[in-house]
Amino acid sequence: MTATPPSAFVPPYLLQQRAADRPADPLVSCILPAYNESENIVPMLQTLHGLLSEAGFRHEFIVVDDGSRDDTVEQVMSQIELLPVTLLQLSRNFGKELALTAGIDHAHGDVAVLIDSDFQHPPEMVPEFLLQWRAGYDMVYSVRSSRDNETLGKRLFTRVFYTLLNSGARHKIPENTQDFRVMDRCVLEALRQMPERNRFMKGLYNWVGFTQLPVETHTKERRAGKSSFNFFSLLNLGLTGLTAFSNVPLRMWTLIGSAISLASILYASWELIHTLLFGNDQPGWPTLAVAISFLGGVQLLSIGILGEYIGRIFSEVKQRPIYLLSRISRAEQDKP
Ligand code: UDP
Ligand code: MG
Repeated sequence: MTATPPSAFVPPYLLQQRAADRPADPLVSCILPAYNESENIVPMLQTLHGLLSEAGFRHEFIVVDDGSRDDTVEQVMSQIELLPVTLLQLSRNFGKELALTAGIDHAHGDVAVLIDSDFQHPPEMVPEFLLQWRAGYDMVYSVRSSRDNETLGKRLFTRVFYTLLNSGARHKIPENTQDFRVMDRCVLEALRQMPERNRFMKGLYNWVGFTQLPVETHTKERRAGKSSFNFFSLLNLGLTGLTAFSNVPLRMWTLIGSAISLASILYASWELIHTLLFGNDQPGWPTLAVAISFLGGVQLLSIGILGEYIGRIFSEVKQRPIYLLSRISRAEQDKP
């Protein structure tokens, strides 16, 4: 466990107050998004079951099958009479952010755990996170200790993304946080009130506030299978995050536009004076070509950025459901 960074400081009286509200025998809901995790999901459920039983926490598992193409569903169904599992099947692949949203909407617990199904988030940290929750933190979240196991390209991309996202933001979204976290019921309820379709969960967790504790964790390699995120899905998530949490890309064009206008006025004045004094002996082709192509590029780029925002507005105003469920399965004795 690492020391709490100063930005995450919570006054002790607040922690005491929150700790006093914790139920004596809480129900823990573990939310596991799963997309093609047939080899990982059962060992993951068994590991978590062992850890939570040992630590004396009552628990339920909410597995969200995000339209897997392998036998993930069958694997989970094989455990349904053995473990307290609820399986939510989405009607197709909606992506991790929406799978998490579905899990959050269906959790009954006093506290929820969000954890990947591929063992990259160490399950043995869960009881430790829950103890911090008991101590009064409403959200205990994992921060990666290093990104060494990632490619240089991905690290650079993340750096640029967070710099852009947080520049000028009042409420900064911490870098290197993960979805791996424990959240009190009050946080779950706050998240359920967020109607947006373009969901960037890390931004939402941060936006809701409450008492938060970052904990440094060592991310491991995936146990089996391969990551579902490629460059384009990351780019898409990055753009969702930027457009949902930052106006900087929009404002930037006001500044760039003003700077270009100012520069062109200065240039025009200089040309005028030069022509009056020395006459014009140059046809000026290069200047024209450069100016036109530069401005054309800047205009297209800024229209593109406007388009990104308008695209998101369009998907919000359509008011479609955030995700669709095709089936909910749970053991007979667990049925509400
Ligand atoms: N996942 C999901 N839907 C998707 C992609 C991934 O529910 O469309 C789940 C996946 O099963 C895993 C977690 O989200 O439990 C993280 O995905 P992955 O390991 O592919 O991403 P990475 O760890 O490489 O960021
Ligand atoms: Mg993974």
